[in-house]
Amino acid sequence: MNILSKYSIGIGDRFAHQAKAQLKALQMGQQNGLTITPVWNKSYREHQIIGSLSETTRLEADAAVQTLGWTGSYFLDADHINQSNVDFFIDTCDFYTIDVADYICQESESAAIHSFCEKYKKYIGPLDLPSLETAAQISVPLLKKVAEQYLFAVQEAGRIYRHILERRGDAGIVIEVSMDEADEAQTPVEIFFILAALADENIPVQTIAPKFSGRFNKGVDYVGDLDQFRAEFEQDVAVLGLTVAEFGLPNDLKLSVHSGSDKFSIYPIINQVIHKFDAGLHLKTAGTTWLEELIGLAEAGGDSLETAKDIYRQSLARYDELCRPYSTVIDIDRSKLPSEEEVQSWDGKTYAASLRHNQSEPLYNLHFRQILHVGYKIAAEMGEHYTDALEKYQDIIAKNVTENIFDRHIKPLFM
Ligand SMILES: [Zn+2]
Repeated sequence: MNILSKYSIGIGDRFAHQAKAQLKALQMGQQNGLTITPVWNKSYREHQIIGSLSETTRLEADAAVQTLGWTGSYFLDADHINQSNVDFFIDTCDFYTIDVADYICQESESAAIHSFCEKYKKYIGPLDLPSLETAAQISVPLLKKVAEQYLFAVQEAGRIYRHILERRGDAGIVIEVSMDEADEAQTPVEIFFILAALADENIPVQTIAPKFSGRFNKGVDYVGDLDQFRAEFEQDVAVLGLTVAEFGLPNDLKLSVHSGSDKFSIYPIINQVIHKFDAGLHLKTAGTTWLEELIGLAEAGGDSLETAKDIYRQSLARYDELCRPYSTVIDIDRSKLPSEEEVQSWDGKTYAASLRHNQSEPLYNLHFRQILHVGYKIAAEMGEHYTDALEKYQDIIAKNVTENIFDRHIKPLFM
């Protein structure tokens, strides 16, 4: 039976060519005694930009599992879905990330708000969090505020969940609820009551993706206060443990960290906290596997280095268009981007070192990395010119993909 294990990792594969190299990193985890469930995630936004179908991701994942003889569970994530696009994924996916961020602050009926406040007023006062010395304070205005901000969004999640049930039943599926693309971070107490409301909607939520404080930009390190992150993350984990008992949510309920790849400065904190609480974790990477493809192409040199340079040249020229869909999750300083001419003069090593996320490498440039991260549309437009290069230089690319997931993610997070 397909079961999401305590640790799981969301691996995006924009061009559906690296599933084997990604899975190999999880096999290396397995050789080190770690069970990590792979979840191939691709959002509707990504599918639209590339012009791909969810079926392609399914075929690629199934083929990788077959070829490598992976006997563990694995999932396909309909990432960031809502009513308007859930059907795009319904037949191929078995992990559904219901995104309610857009519905936060839409007000629910006053009767629903009233009955929510009545039901949960028993929590007013200090709320002790297991394994933590701090207690959270629950007040009447806070209860009302949570209901006003989140009740409608949770009800919307319920509508989408029931639609999924009608279409395909509940056998072997995982439900995640995400709010990470909201404007404001949710506090641990808000998460407590959001989970209460999700339980009221009978949604068997297994992973929840809150918005944390600090910046979770795509493909680069965390920007924020590390002590504050630790306190918040610990409290969130403690709250989840409490809600399982209080509201009858699934035992294996865990946090999901979105845009979680490359957040190297918080990995030691996450690692310590999940071990301290014996908690699970789902880490969704940000589709940075595609950057490992570019690194591999650059390292291969010759015509494939030219392709990598061409992608940068076009990304610069179409900066606004490419950045727009990602405006809230990238921070690029244009003055720090190398010019087209400069990159044209680079050898493969320089290109790779500027792009690879190695903060101790003097050439590493996080602005260069971020613009290329959103530049995958250019590669998609190249069509077979790009995918043929992926196939031709598969070995050198695969090595980068596997190393990135295992050395820079699995090791610091889970080991
Ligand atoms: Zn997300």
